[in-house]
Amino acid sequence: MDGLYGGAGIDVLDGNGASDRFLLPENNEDIILGYDEVNDVKIFFEHTTSSVSSNGSKYAAKVWSETDIEKVDRGLAAIHEKTGNNLLLHHDAWAFDDEYLHCRRAGVRISGKSLGGWNDGLGTITLTDNAFTNNTAAVLITVHEIGHEWDDEYAFDHGWLGLSGWTDDNPNSSSYVKSANTYGDDWWYLKSTKFVSTYAKNDPVDDFADSFAAYFLRDVGMDFTNTTWFGASSAPTKMTWLTEFVANHTTPAWMTNW
Ligand SMILES: [Zn+2]
Repeated sequence: MDGLYGGAGIDVLDGNGASDRFLLPENNEDIILGYDEVNDVKIFFEHTTSSVSSNGSKYAAKVWSETDIEKVDRGLAAIHEKTGNNLLLHHDAWAFDDEYLHCRRAGVRISGKSLGGWNDGLGTITLTDNAFTNNTAAVLITVHEIGHEWDDEYAFDHGWLGLSGWTDDNPNSSSYVKSANTYGDDWWYLKSTKFVSTYAKNDPVDDFADSFAAYFLRDVGMDFTNTTWFGASSAPTKMTWLTEFVANHTTPAWMTNW
Protein backbone atom coordinates (compact mmCIF):
# COMPACT_ATOMS: atom_id res chain seq x y z
CA MET A 1 0.00 0.00 0.00
CA ASP A 2 1.51 3.30 -1.08
CA GLY A 3 0.83 7.01 -1.30
CA LEU A 4 2.17 8.43 -4.54
CA TYR A 5 2.46 12.15 -5.22
CA GLY A 6 2.44 13.33 -8.81
CA GLY A 7 3.50 16.93 -8.26
CA ALA A 8 2.90 19.54 -10.94
CA GLY A 9 2.94 18.80 -14.64
CA ILE A 10 3.01 15.45 -16.32
CA ASP A 11 4.16 12.53 -14.24
CA VAL A 12 3.77 8.85 -14.46
CA LEU A 13 2.66 7.16 -11.31
CA ASP A 14 2.79 3.47 -10.96
CA GLY A 15 1.18 1.99 -7.91
CA ASN A 16 1.95 -1.64 -7.49
CA GLY A 17 0.23 -2.45 -4.22
CA ALA A 18 -3.21 -3.84 -3.63
CA SER A 19 -4.73 -0.43 -2.86
CA ASP A 20 -2.84 2.79 -3.51
CA ARG A 21 -3.45 6.48 -2.93
CA PHE A 22 -2.68 8.67 -5.92
CA LEU A 23 -2.11 12.22 -4.68
CA LEU A 24 -2.62 14.47 -7.65
CA PRO A 25 -2.64 18.17 -8.46
CA GLU A 26 -6.09 19.59 -9.19
CA ASN A 27 -6.90 19.43 -12.92
CA ASN A 28 -4.39 16.64 -13.15
CA GLU A 29 -3.15 15.67 -16.58
CA ASP A 30 -0.83 12.97 -15.36
CA ILE A 31 -0.67 9.68 -17.12
CA ILE A 32 -1.48 7.20 -14.45
CA LEU A 33 -0.14 3.75 -15.00
CA GLY A 34 -1.57 1.07 -12.85
CA TYR A 35 -4.52 3.09 -11.55
CA ASP A 36 -7.23 0.66 -10.64
CA GLU A 37 -10.66 2.29 -10.25
CA VAL A 38 -11.85 -0.47 -7.94
CA ASN A 39 -8.96 -0.72 -5.50
CA ASP A 40 -7.04 2.56 -5.73
CA VAL A 41 -8.09 6.09 -4.89
CA LYS A 42 -7.23 9.53 -6.25
CA ILE A 43 -6.97 12.53 -3.94
CA PHE A 44 -6.57 15.96 -5.49
CA PHE A 45 -4.59 18.86 -4.02
CA GLU A 46 -5.73 22.34 -4.92
CA HIS A 47 -3.79 25.60 -4.41
CA THR A 48 -5.71 28.79 -3.76
CA THR A 49 -4.98 32.06 -5.55
CA SER A 50 -7.42 34.31 -3.68
CA SER A 51 -8.76 34.32 -0.12
CA VAL A 52 -11.34 31.71 0.92
CA SER A 53 -14.14 31.82 3.50
CA SER A 54 -16.30 29.52 5.58
CA ASN A 55 -19.17 30.71 7.78
CA GLY A 56 -17.79 34.24 7.79
CA SER A 57 -14.20 33.26 8.62
CA LYS A 58 -11.70 34.36 5.98
CA TYR A 59 -8.29 32.90 5.15
CA ALA A 60 -5.52 34.00 2.80
CA ALA A 61 -4.60 32.08 -0.35
CA LYS A 62 -1.77 29.56 -0.19
CA VAL A 63 0.07 27.09 -2.40
CA TRP A 64 0.66 23.50 -1.27
CA SER A 65 4.20 22.47 -0.43
CA GLU A 66 5.25 18.88 -0.86
CA THR A 67 6.07 18.79 2.88
CA ASP A 68 2.51 19.75 3.80
CA ILE A 69 1.07 17.21 1.35
CA GLU A 70 3.19 14.59 3.09
CA LYS A 71 1.73 15.64 6.46
CA VAL A 72 -1.81 15.29 5.12
CA ASP A 73 -0.86 11.94 3.64
CA ARG A 74 0.05 10.64 7.11
CA GLY A 75 -3.62 11.15 7.98
CA LEU A 76 -4.78 9.50 4.76
CA ALA A 77 -2.40 6.60 5.42
CA ALA A 78 -3.71 6.13 8.97
CA ILE A 79 -7.18 5.43 7.57
CA HIS A 80 -6.00 3.54 4.49
CA GLU A 81 -3.71 1.16 6.38
CA LYS A 82 -6.26 0.44 9.09
CA THR A 83 -9.04 -0.53 6.66
CA GLY A 84 -6.83 -1.99 3.91
CA ASN A 85 -9.04 -0.46 1.23
CA ASN A 86 -10.09 2.82 -0.37
CA LEU A 87 -13.66 2.97 0.99
CA LEU A 88 -13.29 5.79 3.52
CA LEU A 89 -10.98 7.89 1.30
CA HIS A 90 -13.66 8.72 -1.23
CA HIS A 91 -16.05 11.63 -1.20
CA ASP A 92 -19.46 10.48 -0.11
CA ALA A 93 -20.79 11.82 -3.42
CA TRP A 94 -24.15 13.35 -4.18
CA ALA A 95 -25.43 13.23 -7.74
CA PHE A 96 -23.49 16.20 -9.12
CA ASP A 97 -20.18 15.81 -7.28
CA ASP A 98 -17.32 13.60 -8.35
CA GLU A 99 -16.39 10.73 -6.07
CA TYR A 100 -12.99 12.09 -5.06
CA LEU A 101 -11.69 14.12 -2.15
CA HIS A 102 -10.16 17.49 -3.01
CA CYS A 103 -7.79 19.02 -0.44
CA ARG A 104 -7.57 22.78 -0.76
CA ARG A 105 -4.79 24.79 0.92
CA ALA A 106 -5.52 28.07 2.68
CA GLY A 107 -3.09 30.23 4.61
CA VAL A 108 -3.30 32.58 7.57
CA ARG A 109 -6.52 33.81 9.13
CA ILE A 110 -7.65 37.20 7.87
CA SER A 111 -10.82 37.46 9.97
CA GLY A 112 -13.28 35.34 11.92
CA LYS A 113 -12.67 32.13 13.83
CA SER A 114 -9.42 30.28 14.26
CA LEU A 115 -10.02 27.14 12.17
CA GLY A 116 -7.73 24.26 11.23
CA GLY A 117 -9.94 23.33 8.34
CA TRP A 118 -13.44 22.69 7.09
CA ASN A 119 -15.34 20.32 4.84
CA ASP A 120 -17.82 21.91 2.43
CA GLY A 121 -19.84 18.70 2.13
CA LEU A 122 -19.24 18.70 -1.64
CA GLY A 123 -15.94 16.84 -1.61
CA THR A 124 -13.58 19.71 -0.80
CA ILE A 125 -11.63 19.83 2.45
CA THR A 126 -9.85 23.12 3.13
CA LEU A 127 -6.83 23.07 5.44
CA THR A 128 -5.44 26.33 6.83
CA ASP A 129 -2.03 27.23 8.26
CA ASN A 130 -3.44 26.26 11.67
CA ALA A 131 -3.47 22.63 10.52
CA PHE A 132 0.28 22.65 9.90
CA THR A 133 1.64 23.83 13.25
CA ASN A 134 2.91 20.27 13.88
CA ASN A 135 2.54 16.73 12.47
CA THR A 136 -0.10 15.69 14.99
CA ALA A 137 -2.28 18.71 14.20
CA ALA A 138 -2.04 17.94 10.47
CA VAL A 139 -3.09 14.31 10.96
CA LEU A 140 -5.82 15.21 13.46
CA ILE A 141 -7.41 17.86 11.25
CA THR A 142 -7.12 15.80 8.06
CA VAL A 143 -8.77 12.78 9.69
CA HIS A 144 -11.41 14.96 11.41
CA GLU A 145 -12.43 16.47 8.06
CA ILE A 146 -12.55 13.05 6.41
CA GLY A 147 -14.76 11.98 9.32
CA HIS A 148 -17.23 14.66 8.19
CA GLU A 149 -17.57 12.78 4.88
CA TRP A 150 -19.32 10.03 6.84
CA ASP A 151 -21.33 11.98 9.39
CA ASP A 152 -24.49 12.18 7.26
CA GLU A 153 -24.90 8.42 7.47
CA TYR A 154 -23.36 7.65 10.83
CA ALA A 155 -23.64 10.61 13.22
CA PHE A 156 -27.43 10.44 13.24
CA ASP A 157 -27.89 6.70 12.95
CA HIS A 158 -26.37 3.36 13.92
CA GLY A 159 -26.62 4.26 17.62
CA TRP A 160 -24.20 7.22 17.52
CA LEU A 161 -26.64 9.76 19.02
CA GLY A 162 -27.44 7.41 21.89
CA LEU A 163 -23.81 7.20 23.02
CA SER A 164 -24.06 10.80 24.24
CA GLY A 165 -27.83 11.11 24.58
CA TRP A 166 -27.73 13.74 21.79
CA THR A 167 -31.10 15.36 21.22
CA ASP A 168 -32.22 18.56 19.48
CA ASP A 169 -35.48 18.43 21.43
CA ASN A 170 -34.97 20.27 24.73
CA PRO A 171 -35.21 17.50 27.37
CA ASN A 172 -35.80 20.07 30.16
CA SER A 173 -33.80 17.86 32.48
CA SER A 174 -30.91 18.54 34.80
CA SER A 175 -29.31 15.32 33.49
CA TYR A 176 -28.64 17.14 30.21
CA VAL A 177 -26.32 19.95 29.17
CA LYS A 178 -27.02 22.34 26.31
CA SER A 179 -24.11 22.36 23.85
CA ALA A 180 -22.13 25.51 23.25
CA ASN A 181 -22.60 25.02 19.50
CA THR A 182 -22.76 28.37 17.77
CA TYR A 183 -23.64 27.01 14.32
CA GLY A 184 -27.12 25.91 13.35
CA ASP A 185 -29.31 23.85 15.66
CA ASP A 186 -29.36 23.68 19.43
CA TRP A 187 -28.30 20.32 20.86
CA TRP A 188 -28.31 18.74 24.31
CA TYR A 189 -26.22 15.81 25.59
CA LEU A 190 -26.28 13.73 28.74
CA LYS A 191 -24.14 15.29 31.46
CA SER A 192 -22.54 11.90 32.16
CA THR A 193 -21.19 11.60 28.58
CA LYS A 194 -17.49 11.03 27.93
CA PHE A 195 -16.09 13.00 25.00
CA VAL A 196 -12.68 12.92 23.30
CA SER A 197 -12.44 16.72 23.28
CA THR A 198 -14.15 19.95 24.26
CA TYR A 199 -14.96 20.55 20.60
CA ALA A 200 -16.77 17.21 20.35
CA LYS A 201 -19.38 18.63 22.73
CA ASN A 202 -20.57 21.00 19.99
CA ASP A 203 -22.96 18.67 18.19
CA PRO A 204 -23.25 15.06 16.96
CA VAL A 205 -21.21 15.69 13.79
CA ASP A 206 -18.19 17.19 15.53
CA ASP A 207 -18.48 14.53 18.22
CA PHE A 208 -18.32 11.99 15.37
CA ALA A 209 -15.46 13.72 13.50
CA ASP A 210 -13.30 14.27 16.61
CA SER A 211 -13.93 10.72 17.87
CA PHE A 212 -13.07 9.40 14.38
CA ALA A 213 -9.82 11.41 14.55
CA ALA A 214 -9.03 10.19 18.10
CA TYR A 215 -9.55 6.58 17.01
CA PHE A 216 -7.13 6.78 14.06
CA LEU A 217 -4.57 8.92 15.95
CA ARG A 218 -4.40 6.29 18.67
CA ASP A 219 -3.98 3.58 16.07
CA VAL A 220 -0.85 5.27 14.66
CA GLY A 221 0.61 6.05 18.08
CA MET A 222 -0.29 9.78 17.99
CA ASP A 223 -2.75 9.80 20.89
CA PHE A 224 -2.25 12.79 23.19
CA THR A 225 -4.08 14.83 25.80
CA ASN A 226 -4.17 18.47 26.75
CA THR A 227 -6.70 20.85 28.31
CA THR A 228 -9.12 20.62 25.36
CA TRP A 229 -8.21 17.21 23.86
CA PHE A 230 -8.86 14.24 26.14
CA GLY A 231 -7.84 11.48 23.70
CA ALA A 232 -9.24 8.13 22.68
CA SER A 233 -9.15 6.49 26.10
CA SER A 234 -11.43 9.18 27.56
CA ALA A 235 -14.40 7.91 25.50
CA PRO A 236 -14.23 4.09 25.52
CA THR A 237 -17.80 3.43 24.34
CA LYS A 238 -17.17 5.63 21.29
CA MET A 239 -13.92 3.78 20.54
CA THR A 240 -15.83 0.49 20.74
CA TRP A 241 -18.45 1.88 18.33
CA LEU A 242 -15.65 3.00 15.96
CA THR A 243 -13.95 -0.38 16.15
CA GLU A 244 -17.16 -1.88 14.81
CA PHE A 245 -17.52 0.90 12.21
CA VAL A 246 -13.98 0.24 10.96
CA ALA A 247 -14.55 -3.54 10.97
CA ASN A 248 -17.54 -2.92 8.70
CA HIS A 249 -15.30 -1.00 6.30
CA THR A 250 -12.34 -3.35 6.41
CA THR A 251 -11.45 -5.69 3.60
CA PRO A 252 -12.25 -9.17 4.86
CA ALA A 253 -9.21 -11.45 5.02
CA TRP A 254 -10.70 -13.81 2.44
CA MET A 255 -10.57 -11.01 -0.13
CA THR A 256 -6.90 -10.18 0.34
CA ASN A 257 -5.48 -13.66 1.00
CA TRP A 258 -6.27 -15.40 -2.24
ZN1 LIG B 1 -15.69 19.56 12.28
